[in-house]
Amino acid sequence: MTKKIAVLPGDGIGIEITAEAVKVIECLNNDFGLNAEMEQGLVGGSAYDASQTPLPEATLDLAKAADAVLLGAVGGYKWESLDISVRPEKGLLGLRSELELFANLRPAILYPQLAHASTLKAEIVSGLDIMIVRELTGGIYFGQPRGVRTLENGEQQGFNTLVYTESEIERIAHVAFDTAMKRNKRLCSVDKANVLECTELWREVVTRVSQAYPEVELSHMYVDNAAMQLVREPKQFDVMVTTNMFGDILSDCAAMLTGSIGMLPSASMDKNNKGMYEPIHGSAPDIAGQNMANPLATILSVSMMLRYSLQAEELAVKVEQAVNRVLDQKLRTADIFTDGHTRVGTDAMGDAVVAALRSNL
Ligand code: NAD
Repeated sequence: MTKKIAVLPGDGIGIEITAEAVKVIECLNNDFGLNAEMEQGLVGGSAYDASQTPLPEATLDLAKAADAVLLGAVGGYKWESLDISVRPEKGLLGLRSELELFANLRPAILYPQLAHASTLKAEIVSGLDIMIVRELTGGIYFGQPRGVRTLENGEQQGFNTLVYTESEIERIAHVAFDTAMKRNKRLCSVDKANVLECTELWREVVTRVSQAYPEVELSHMYVDNAAMQLVREPKQFDVMVTTNMFGDILSDCAAMLTGSIGMLPSASMDKNNKGMYEPIHGSAPDIAGQNMANPLATILSVSMMLRYSLQAEELAVKVEQAVNRVLDQKLRTADIFTDGHTRVGTDAMGDAVVAALRSNL
């Protein structure tokens, strides 16, 4: 049966990296029997330029009708002065909430070939394989009330609200425990229960859900300690589960353990395994349009899409093997380049992955 993929390149390097991921999907269609139809839509700043909204109805309809969504990245200097309600990032948050993508899976895997590209010592990071499960449609990024108000004394006050219902915590906890069951059966729940009542409830609910998973060893950690432990001894973690904002920050921190933010894919899932797949990085306006961006995070996002939404595990593994092969060939984009390797641009890296895939027919 034909699968439909909505391709939303977005802005900045989103356009360049998505083009390389599309090449990979085309190769899977042509040579590996994947039957996927791709249709492109606008989101973010490019959508705002075309229709004064970062999330046009047509894009939302396309994403809703698709089996999976592949997204590049949104944002850029050009749109920073727009009202917050129409900024590019609103397009992304809108997609996540409209598609009810509440579970964000962010693997942080260190490819052994990149141990020396990490800013941490190779012995601290080699063999690293962490899965961060981040709640994606609740918490302080969505909580009401929010805004900036003027106080009686004339001073301005900014405010946001951290809210989680029990059911929101329960469903993300189940995803995290299920994920841990497929891995090393260790789950660390990250909160700030000593200060924030909302995350005190988080801890209580996660502990309650743990009763259904007696094989999983559950631990709890405050977020400040978790940030420190991630750089001190990252291999102590197997699966981490946390709130929207803490997950946003910790997963960027985990990204650097792996050498570059340009290597990390992500999956955002709804309750039926429909997903939106995207690299965890942004639109990198500092290098956009220069053929410098690393497309591997986006290509690895295609691998996650094949695994989680298109039920094509075998092809997912082939894409991962192809990425491994180009790293073995010592090809490196600027962000992961170290002496003794060959520096390549975004398009050459994408072409090399396609060639490596074809050689594994
Ligand atoms: P960023 O992730 O875009 O860039 C951070 C740094 O990492 C930059 O130096 C950039 O050059 C580098 N980098 C990122 N991806 C790379 C890649 N694939 N290859 C090589 N280097 C890469 O974060 P930022 O600079 O804080 O944000 C830039 C814009 O992106 C902002 O408008 C922000 O709101 C947006 N943003 C979007 C998303 C998203 O679409 N999911 C996520 C984060 C930030």
